[in-house]
Amino acid sequence: MIELKHISKSYPNKKTTFHALEDVNLTIQPGEIVGILGYSGAGKSTLVRIINGLIEPSKGVVSIDGHDLDLHKQQAIDRMRHTIGMIFQHFNLIHSMTVYDNIKLPLDIAKYPQDKDKRILELLSLVGLSDKKDMYPKSLSGGERQRVGIARALANHPKVLLCDEATSALDQKTATDILDLLKQIHQQTGVTIVFITHQIEVVKALCDRVVVMDGGRIVEDTPIKDLFVHP
Ligand code: ADP
Ligand code: ADP
Repeated sequence: MIELKHISKSYPNKKTTFHALEDVNLTIQPGEIVGILGYSGAGKSTLVRIINGLIEPSKGVVSIDGHDLDLHKQQAIDRMRHTIGMIFQHFNLIHSMTVYDNIKLPLDIAKYPQDKDKRILELLSLVGLSDKKDMYPKSLSGGERQRVGIARALANHPKVLLCDEATSALDQKTATDILDLLKQIHQQTGVTIVFITHQIEVVKALCDRVVVMDGGRIVEDTPIKDLFVHP
C-alpha cells in the first residue's frame, strides 16, 4: 500500500549537510496497522511529509497504492490525496465551521459523487458525534475534536489513515478511547493505519507491527509481539 525505496532527505547547513533520513526502506501492506516509533529528531515528521507529498525526498521513490508519487505531476498528487487521509496532533479543524461542515469540506473539495448529507451522517455515527453536528470545535473536548478529525480524514474512503502524533495532545483516558475507535474503524473498514508516535504504550495498544526510527534510519521493524521479548 505504501512503499518507500531508498529514501534519503538531507538539509544543507551552513557548513555540513544534515541527513534527516538515510536510506529508509519500508513496505506497508494493505490492512496493516503499523506504528512508527522514535524519539524527537528521529526523522518521523520528515517521513510523514515525504509520504503525504509536502516535501520531496533527496533520493529514492515513494509508491502509494502501486503508483509512484511524482510531485511534479498534479494527477499523482491528487491520487495520493484521495488514497491517504490524515489526522493530526492538534486536530487542524476549521474553527469558524461546525462539526458538520468540517466533515463536509473534503467531500466538497473532492466533488463527492454521492449524497453528501448521507455520508456525513454516516461518519458522525461512526465516530459517535451524531448529537454534536451543529456545534463548533471550540465547544468540544479534545477527544471530540479528534473524532471530528477522524471523520474528516475518512470522508472520501481513503485506503490509508496516516496519524501524526494523533493522541499526543490527549489525556490518557481520552487517548485510549481514540485508539479503541481506530481499532473499531480498522475492523469495520479494513483501512491501513500508519501511526506515528514517540509513545511506546500507544504502539503497544494499537499496532500489529512497529518500525523504530533513530537518527534518520529504521533500526527495528518487527511484529509487535516480538518487540518486548528478549532472550
Ligand atoms: P521527528 O519528527 O522524529 O522529531 P523530524 O523529522 O522533525 O523528526 O526531524 C529530524 C531531524 O531533521 C531533526 O534533527 C531536525 O532538526 C531536522 N530537520 C527537520 N526539518 C528540517 C529543516 N527544514 N531544515 C533543517 N533541518 C531539519
Ligand atoms: P452542497 O451545496 O455541497 O450541495 P449543501 O450545503 O446544500 O451542500 O448541503 C447538502 C445537504 O446537507 C442538504 O440537504 C443540507 O440541508 C444538509 N446540511 C447542510 N448543513 C447541515 C447541518 N449543519 N446539519 C444538518 N444538515 C445539513
